[in-house]
Amino acid sequence: MTTIDFRSTMTVELVDHMGTDETIARSARVSSGTSGNLTANRGLLNMLMRDRHGSPFESVTYQFKVTCPIFVAREFFRHRIASYNEVSGRYKVLEPVFYYPTPSRPLRQIGKPGAYSFEAGDYKQQRTAEGEHKRMAVEAWDSYEHMLDRGIAREVARNVLPVSLYTSFYVTMNLRSLFNFLSLRWAHEDSKVPTFPLKEIEDVAKQMDAKARQVCPIAFEHFDAHGRVAP
Ligand SMILES: Cc1cc2nc3c(=O)[nH]c(=O)nc-3n(C[C@H](O)[C@H](O)[C@H](O)COP(=O)(O)OP(=O)(O)OC[C@H]3O[C@@H](n4cnc5c(N)ncnc54)[C@H](O)[C@@H]3O)c2cc1C
Repeated sequence: MTTIDFRSTMTVELVDHMGTDETIARSARVSSGTSGNLTANRGLLNMLMRDRHGSPFESVTYQFKVTCPIFVAREFFRHRIASYNEVSGRYKVLEPVFYYPTPSRPLRQIGKPGAYSFEAGDYKQQRTAEGEHKRMAVEAWDSYEHMLDRGIAREVARNVLPVSLYTSFYVTMNLRSLFNFLSLRWAHEDSKVPTFPLKEIEDVAKQMDAKARQVCPIAFEHFDAHGRVAP
């Protein structure tokens, strides 16, 4: 029997990037024909963020590789202003990697749609959530392998696999689009507009934020300062 890898972590790699804070300032300055030093650029980026002059932020591009369960990827792919390439379940046999909620994952949903809060489950709920995720993953994987053994095409056999299966994809997005993603997928303490993201996509967003801000620290400083609203 195949050994299944159970995980609850999300992985984000910054694979490539183009542009810096200076690129944003240069793009903006073409309209006035001016030039500026670091201090002037800091002021300019502040103004662009504050007044939501968004297009200069499009001149910086990032490519990330994200490894996460399908239920997280589904939410991610709703962000249309990005380019994606994902592992194919038609062209290759998938890896037996499945998500399960660890005891630290809140399990109880309190409140109404649009204003939920989540609280820790009790011991019994934690054991049940973990046990059911693992039981169904093992059963689904057995069924997938059984069909492959019988010569059934990968694109048909994969249909029995649940959304807790891990997938990997490259996402390429510009900084303006990334700010939009981060504004929606991280309930950050500096956010002016509240949001209620899924914990696991928030884990992805936090990692993307940490890596992307190293490339454009000034733009991110102003993003935070102006309430993390996409320009
Ligand atoms: C907490 C939360 C809960 C959610 N719940 C649900 C849900 O229950 N059901 C559901 O279906 N979705 C849900 N979503 C997904 C949500 O509706 C958006 O599809 C997703 O957040 C992508 O946002 P976006 O359109 O701004 O991003 P992108 O698609 O990347 O678009 C970026 C920006 O481009 C512009 N844009 C893009 N496409 C168009 C267009 N066709 N017309 C006009 N302007 C456009 C908009 O300004 C948009 O903000 C939820 C999202 C969050 C954060």
